Amino acid sequence: MYDVIVVGGGPSGIFAALQAKRINKKIKLVVLEKSKSILSKIKVSGGGRCNVTNATFDIKELCLNYPRGNKELISAFHQFQPLDMIKWLEKKGVSLKIDNGKRVFPSSDNSQCIIDCFLKEIKNKDVEVKYNQNIINVIKKNDLFEIVLKNQEKILAKKIILATGSSNDGLKYAKQLGHNIAPFIPSLFSFKIESNDILKLAGLSQKRVKVFLKNSSYAQIGSILITHEGFSGPSIINLSSFAAKFLYEKKYKVILSINWLNNFSKDQIMHILLKAKHQHSKNLLSKINPFNFPYKLWAFFLKNFGNIFFTTIKDISNRNLIKLVEKLSSDHYSMISKSENKNEFVSCGGINLKEVNFKDMQSKKCGNLYFVGELLNVDGITGGYNLQNAWTTGFIAGNSLQKP
Ligand SMILES: Cc1cc2nc3c(=O)[nH]c(=O)nc-3n(C[C@H](O)[C@H](O)[C@H](O)COP(=O)(O)OP(=O)(O)OC[C@H]3O[C@@H](n4cnc5c(N)ncnc54)[C@H](O)[C@@H]3O)c2cc1C
Repeated sequence: MYDVIVVGGGPSGIFAALQAKRINKKIKLVVLEKSKSILSKIKVSGGGRCNVTNATFDIKELCLNYPRGNKELISAFHQFQPLDMIKWLEKKGVSLKIDNGKRVFPSSDNSQCIIDCFLKEIKNKDVEVKYNQNIINVIKKNDLFEIVLKNQEKILAKKIILATGSSNDGLKYAKQLGHNIAPFIPSLFSFKIESNDILKLAGLSQKRVKVFLKNSSYAQIGSILITHEGFSGPSIINLSSFAAKFLYEKKYKVILSINWLNNFSKDQIMHILLKAKHQHSKNLLSKINPFNFPYKLWAFFLKNFGNIFFTTIKDISNRNLIKLVEKLSSDHYSMISKSENKNEFVSCGGINLKEVNFKDMQSKKCGNLYFVGELLNVDGITGGYNLQNAWTTGFIAGNSLQKP
């Protein structure tokens, strides 16, 4: 019989277990992990570098990065926020650095040092971890929980922390224990588009574009990367997060619009082009490049938006210039499917947040049952926000176990 069973050895479950042991080292606690290793997503996170959190310390600003969970996380971050995680890791000897977009990485650029830090802590705090645990059921029996394993072994516990991430197992257990759930669907992905000459420019990126989805209000501003099958980069990945449900419902068949010159109004773009026409009348527009696009991208626009690549600027009709302005401000591509973002991937969906008390992460439907991490219907955009959700909710649950 255990005081606490943590189901799942990902970052949220392990952090919860460490906190529980910190508060009470005598607590009888075990982490039951389905696979043969713990923290396996940490290893591959951030492209192997582990974007461990984001150095956004203003809680309101921080919450804007969570398409789902932004309201509920406000109180949670007041208990444990990115600065606390940074201090925690540094205290344990992990040197950190802040990269673009306030992303926090280990200075070594190697996720293994985060895993090593946790393995050391698990040993120091004497946290029991059992691997290859095949749980087939979690049942509430009076005041206790019974965990049933495939080999028919039964383990009893007074409290349970469900930390199964985006595995459907956790949803199944929670449903049985009376919870409403939103099925998991993908978030944080790149877009595949219909065959188009722009794909020949794979590898090129452009800053400060606005990407938006036709027939919706979803839009994001940021860098875009052209890939060999479509588009990626922060603007697209973040759009996939905010529009995760919309895209899923549309089966990823939507029209993506790109405003390549989001910093300019259409009038300003036209003004700049007319000025160029006046000042460099005998020149080719391709040579002038008044918006400083990567040359190959500018050449693509001139070839595809009015076929004016080889035309001297004085010979380009105003009608063609208007067409160019229109296309630069609203260039359309047919999305045909999604592809994974290799740096970070997360699921949208999970336990209904109204049924969880974010002061202690306890279920409002079933006493002594706690939810942490990605199993909750919380997900963030790319940038370390998803791991921060795991740290914060894990911290709160682990600290709350002693409370009556
Ligand atoms: C490729 C990739 C890169 C990422 N990079 C980043 C990044 O750089 N920064 C960031 O913030 N986020 C990143 N994420 C997201 C982040 O890893 C997750 O949000 C985070 O790991 C969620 O933690 P968790 O503990 O809730 O779940 P998980 O990490 O998924 O852990 C759940 C654990 O529970 C176990 N489990 C599942 N079912 C059972 C069961 N029935 N019984 C027992 N155990 C079970 C699983 O085996 C797993 O070990 C990345 C995700 C991926 C896939």
